[in-house]
Amino acid sequence: SCGKKFLEWIKTNLLLVLTILGVFLGVLLGFLARFGNYGEEAIMLVSFPGDILMRMLKMLILPLIISSMISGLAQLDAKSSGRMGSRALVYYFATTMLAAVLGITLVSAIHPGDPSIKEGVETDSEDKNVYTLDAFLDLIRNMFPENLLQACFQQVETTYTKVKAKPSIGRTGTNLTNQTEFENVTQYIQKRGFVYKDGTNVLGLIIFCIAFGVICSQLGEEGEMMVNFFVILNDIIMKIVVLVMWYSPFGIMSLIIGKIMDIKDLARTAQQLGLYMLTVITGLIIHAGLTLPLLYFAITRKNPLTFVKGMLQAWITALGTASSAATLPVTFRCLEENNHIDKRVTRFVLPVGATVNMDGTALYEAVAAIFIAQMNGIELAAGQVIAVSLTATAASIGAASVPSAGLVTMLLVLSAVGLPTKDITMIVAVDWLLDRLRTSINVLGDAFGAGIVHHLSKAELDKIDAEHARIEMEMA
Ligand code: ASP
Repeated sequence: SCGKKFLEWIKTNLLLVLTILGVFLGVLLGFLARFGNYGEEAIMLVSFPGDILMRMLKMLILPLIISSMISGLAQLDAKSSGRMGSRALVYYFATTMLAAVLGITLVSAIHPGDPSIKEGVETDSEDKNVYTLDAFLDLIRNMFPENLLQACFQQVETTYTKVKAKPSIGRTGTNLTNQTEFENVTQYIQKRGFVYKDGTNVLGLIIFCIAFGVICSQLGEEGEMMVNFFVILNDIIMKIVVLVMWYSPFGIMSLIIGKIMDIKDLARTAQQLGLYMLTVITGLIIHAGLTLPLLYFAITRKNPLTFVKGMLQAWITALGTASSAATLPVTFRCLEENNHIDKRVTRFVLPVGATVNMDGTALYEAVAAIFIAQMNGIELAAGQVIAVSLTATAASIGAASVPSAGLVTMLLVLSAVGLPTKDITMIVAVDWLLDRLRTSINVLGDAFGAGIVHHLSKAELDKIDAEHARIEMEMA
């Protein structure tokens, strides 16, 4: 009966099993393929199914965010959405800060940075200054897009486009919206100076959707048609999500094989940056394995392991795609279907979380910044360390939910404490790995956040339900 039970389990978790299989096969085949010395073309072909997965997931982001935010908020009353929103924001800020502080503690204790690491490494790009104030203002500016339609596809304005650089680089108009270019953003940073532009102004759209949804909720019967439209739109998109998810094991395998085949000089980077990577990974494990589960347990008194198990599919998708935004559709499914989080909570809280709440990124940025200081033999004063924790938090909020975004916003952290920004090119070498690891923690953080907000908002949600039931009774 044990075997039968196992088969039953596989049957009910088939998609998850296939996805895990995809990861294992991806790693295995990827390393095997490295022996073959295949060229660019082979890598391109192998990564192609993964490319398609990324495109499909990204295709869903825009309608998903808009329909979920509006339908979610329209089904709440303004007061409860306000409370829910503040709870989420407090959770986001607190956990992100915790992650950054953990990163700082670990990197100071382990001390992976040593001036010898830089020996023999060419850093040919020059130091670039990012205007810190401007970067902060940009974050807020982007919340209020001048043109809503443009916000859907036009690039976000970021300070990295205004970086002080040679006239030939750092100019606006560099287009990174194309998927393949996105994947190559790290090479891009090296080649063109720190020019970076994001695909969609998600934050700007979110702000508009919040206003739209809250007002819808106040219209009552008058707004019903509009609300229904977005509710149905959301249902349809979520059905497409399921289709894409059944393709994802194959896509994730392809992404992983392609990435592993593409790694340059594995032994040397492992030797140079091994301890640094270990620091980041240890931090991520502590944050996801201790901090978040304990917090979740302390607040909800529910088993965090069961919760994490329900999120596995999303976690693996994040590992494969290295993008919280691309993972968002799967995160929705896991939270609603496996962990039974109220749709009104997920719809409102998740899009915001995926965009601004990045614990893994904050931790990573803090570690990387202090690692760079250590490599240069710079001792940071206490005030500077505090500045690192604050700017790492800000940089994680500002980072877009796309691959390698955190690497770029790190310039802000480095500039704020006067560290050499050109040294970023050193850690670019291992970003293919650290990016997906931190992204998976970002996603987990968003998920725990939704779970906690759901728990704290239960009374209000029940009240709204009771009210609806009462109205329906009266009508009948
Ligand atoms: N790729 C990360 C994410 O999507 C952001 C980052 O680069 O840190 O969450």
